[in-house]
Amino acid sequence: MANKTKLAKEDIQSNYSLSDHYDLIIIGGGISGLATGLLWQKNTEGKKTLIVEKNSYTGGYSTSFRKGDYIFETTQLFPDIINIMEYLGVELKLKRYEKDFMRRIVVNGDRVDEYKIPSGPENFKNYLKNNFPEDAGKIEKLMDYSISMFSQVRKLKVIPTLKDTLVTPFKAPKVLANLNRTYSALLDKFEITNPKLREVLETFTSFSGVPSGRASSIYATGAMLSSMTRTFRPYGYFDEFPANMTKLFQERGGELRLKAEVEKIIVDNGEAKGIKIRGEDKIIEADTIITTIDTMVAMRQLVGEDNLPGEYVKRLDNTIMSTSSINIALGLDDKIDLAGMDLDYPYNVVSTGLGTAEKLFDAFMAGNNAFSEDCFHAAIICPSLTTGSKNTITIRCTPFGMGNWNEWRKNDREKYKAEKEKWGDFFIAIAEEYFIPGLSKHIVVKDIATPATFSRYSGSPTGSIYDMASVVSQFGPKRLPFKTPVKNLYQPKFAHGLYGGMMNGVQMVDMLLDRKFNDGNSLFNPRK
Ligand SMILES: Cc1cc2nc3c(=O)[nH]c(=O)nc-3n(C[C@H](O)[C@H](O)[C@H](O)COP(=O)(O)OP(=O)(O)OC[C@H]3O[C@@H](n4cnc5c(N)ncnc54)[C@H](O)[C@@H]3O)c2cc1C
Repeated sequence: MANKTKLAKEDIQSNYSLSDHYDLIIIGGGISGLATGLLWQKNTEGKKTLIVEKNSYTGGYSTSFRKGDYIFETTQLFPDIINIMEYLGVELKLKRYEKDFMRRIVVNGDRVDEYKIPSGPENFKNYLKNNFPEDAGKIEKLMDYSISMFSQVRKLKVIPTLKDTLVTPFKAPKVLANLNRTYSALLDKFEITNPKLREVLETFTSFSGVPSGRASSIYATGAMLSSMTRTFRPYGYFDEFPANMTKLFQERGGELRLKAEVEKIIVDNGEAKGIKIRGEDKIIEADTIITTIDTMVAMRQLVGEDNLPGEYVKRLDNTIMSTSSINIALGLDDKIDLAGMDLDYPYNVVSTGLGTAEKLFDAFMAGNNAFSEDCFHAAIICPSLTTGSKNTITIRCTPFGMGNWNEWRKNDREKYKAEKEKWGDFFIAIAEEYFIPGLSKHIVVKDIATPATFSRYSGSPTGSIYDMASVVSQFGPKRLPFKTPVKNLYQPKFAHGLYGGMMNGVQMVDMLLDRKFNDGNSLFNPRK
């Protein structure tokens, strides 16, 4: 596919009818907002629904953008959400990665270990057993346990009735046993002590910028099994996905208002009544309001702490938002042979050894970053191998915190630019050393997104790329619930990623419809 002149997102227009009352208003036109809108339409009739989005396009964090002659994307890995897409009629031409899931390099001083992690849990298990024969028995037990635990998640109900609660210990004992367990503790339970084996397994927690000692074991297992079972990427650009969802939403009667930032959620007597758009006096009323934007902004600024019980504000105070990222998008000349460099994996990941994720996360929590030549983690992706467009590379580096990035961007542009260049050069050198020899000689276009960039586009003050962090202390029942203390106001925050965004829609709509669509199931399993 040659470079297109127009991105799919550029075709999307507002179709707001200027009405001042809706059955449902959804704040945020990212994947969570769009999934919620589409699933709601599919399971209701004649409801007036409005999605309000502050940017000039839908898709939020999942988008594409142009720089010079090149088109770049934020998201890279398309998870297995095919059944939800089919249910909704969302079409997208996807490439499936049949063989390998990840090329993984671990650098320990002078030692460099390389793994090619295959797709599919069974293949992964056998791969690990072959690579670590002395640990074969432990690997077998861990993987079988993980698969069984993940299958039990399917049996859980989102808001359990008394009967559901009574049967949960029999239907999902492994889930209950692991609610407070970190991934690292799960590996300990199976006596996985070989540092090299742990390095490979912990790939699935460092993915989201959380170390295994803090990540929920259920979350990490789910991320591993759901992402590696069937993995895709679009043949076109990533913005086609939200653009196709938006078109369907509008064709089915939904209204979209772009370039409209919600400044306030109007709360009267503990009940959400409507929204106020920045720069306008008019209140748009709604029977139900769903916010899919940054949790802290939604609850502290749009609702306001005065409208929330003290207990809930305390929970907000204790909530850890996820890390941010630096993303380096490179447009390369046509003299480089990317196809010959063994890069066509959903992810190519390089990091230093065991303990790296902990050091990086601790520094993030302290408001700094700990990246250095001896401590790093980066994913290197080559989208043009699938899109067929001019050569592009994305280098994705997480966890970064906000630190001074916003301050520099606002008040010291020289410093901001210098820091961007510094970190750009740092990660380009890593990509060049481990994956793409000669990379720097071929760069034509460079776009570096910092935590300040992510903050600007998403509206998250912390530039958090995954909303609430997936640490064990805010997993499952300890996560802020969808139902907020304000009547008729909901905040779906199942988890992150495109899978999480779609599941936000599934659980949210099922909750609004008293389980009539998904039968209260925690994963997608609609009533026939
Ligand atoms: C660089 C990067 C790479 C990623 N890679 C992957 C990947 O490969 N695979 C994967 O599955 N996931 C990936 N993710 C995560 C994934 O993109 C997100 O988890 C998902 O898109 C979040 O969707 P969302 O709708 O919940 O939130 P968002 O995308 O943040 O959408 C929220 C929307 O609300 C809007 N908004 C905010 N404030 C207001 C307001 N006051 N009024 C109106 N609108 C407002 C925002 O503009 C935004 O459009 C990546 C994320 C990033 C940042």
